[in-house]
Amino acid sequence: LSVGVVRESEPGERRVALVPKLVERLAKRGLRVVVESGAGGGAMLDDVAFEQAGARIGDAWSADIVVKVAPPTSAEISRLPSGAVLIGFLRPLSDVDKIAELEKAGVTGFAMESIPRISRAQAMDALSSQSSVAGYRAVLAAAERLPRFFPMLTTAAGTMPPAKVLVLGVGVSGLQALATAKRLGAQTTGYDVRPEVAEQVRSVGATWLDLGIEAVGEGGYARELTGDERAEQQRRLTEAITRFDVVITTALVPGRRAPTLVTAEAVRGMPAGAVVIDLAGETGGNCELSEPGRDVVAHDVTIFAPLNLPADMPAHASELYARNLTELIELLLDDEGRLALDFSDEIVSGACVAVGGAAKKAKKEAENR
Ligand code: NAD
Repeated sequence: LSVGVVRESEPGERRVALVPKLVERLAKRGLRVVVESGAGGGAMLDDVAFEQAGARIGDAWSADIVVKVAPPTSAEISRLPSGAVLIGFLRPLSDVDKIAELEKAGVTGFAMESIPRISRAQAMDALSSQSSVAGYRAVLAAAERLPRFFPMLTTAAGTMPPAKVLVLGVGVSGLQALATAKRLGAQTTGYDVRPEVAEQVRSVGATWLDLGIEAVGEGGYARELTGDERAEQQRRLTEAITRFDVVITTALVPGRRAPTLVTAEAVRGMPAGAVVIDLAGETGGNCELSEPGRDVVAHDVTIFAPLNLPADMPAHASELYARNLTELIELLLDDEGRLALDFSDEIVSGACVAVGGAAKKAKKEAENR
């Protein structure tokens, strides 16, 4: 069985789906790894590093299992052989047409973002691993833009107070942002609509901001707020936000537009030089003034909604992603290292978003058994 590691084509995507360490692990399972020349370049991994780990440089697109980070373009889909398996972030909720193209091409697609978030699948959870990178990088982006120190500094020229950082939406990325800001010496506060998050916020040394609005949805995620709740939340947040130098927002509701947590009025109330980092830019943004991918300055406040932060830290982001991906590949193999898709496993059935030839065959075999 062969695994193909292809070069990413999305602008700015510097991650690679497999790193040499994990190539070795797959090779031990009897898999042949083929790497497209230059695939690791963005993550500072050259072809030689892959060859030394046992991979061959060659036509990765015709492998049995093709692994990627970003979704394929239509031209890339046409390079995949019928019967192939493709694994990557396939954006199944927003890229419905692409999923249909994959199926039409006979390709079985596994979406990393569709792996159920159950404890058995934790090692495969690429949403979490990449969110951690994003949360960490968000704090660095904020620190770089803030015209003040993050830590309290006592110097002969006077004492500078620590920066006050508020994180809105404390899932995986928000929690990492709180921990990172704390390490840089900031005074940290976290807010979420899921009350169980309070404990986690305190565990990373932050203060819990309680606005008295709870919105727990399905599967451990937040639900969308009602109109009244939203108005109340915005009113209370607008008041609270005036006390902070940095606001980092990460609030998402699966399948919905990101909620607006930082209104233009709230930005107007922030101190001069304050910074808003909005991690929800890809789904509409949490700040009313965000422009995805750009710095915006309004009322002397800098608002930045970065796109694809994990790609800015490609070495560790790729390594974590590669480990998540390898765990999934291993789940798709039998003891002899052959492809054995078991659709009675909720991870396999949950992650499979395009039912191509390989999946159809496996499903039929399961029925006949
Ligand atoms: P996410 O990226 O979907 O959302 C980020 C945060 O925004 C969430 O904490 C959410 O509650 C919050 N949010 C949404 N709407 C909001 C609003 N209007 N106001 C304020 N905050 C709002 O979240 P995530 O990082 O993917 O984590 C979601 C859940 O999945 C968490 O409960 C997390 O612990 C859980 N999880 C479980 C596992 C596992 O068991 N394997 C792994 C990872 C995450």
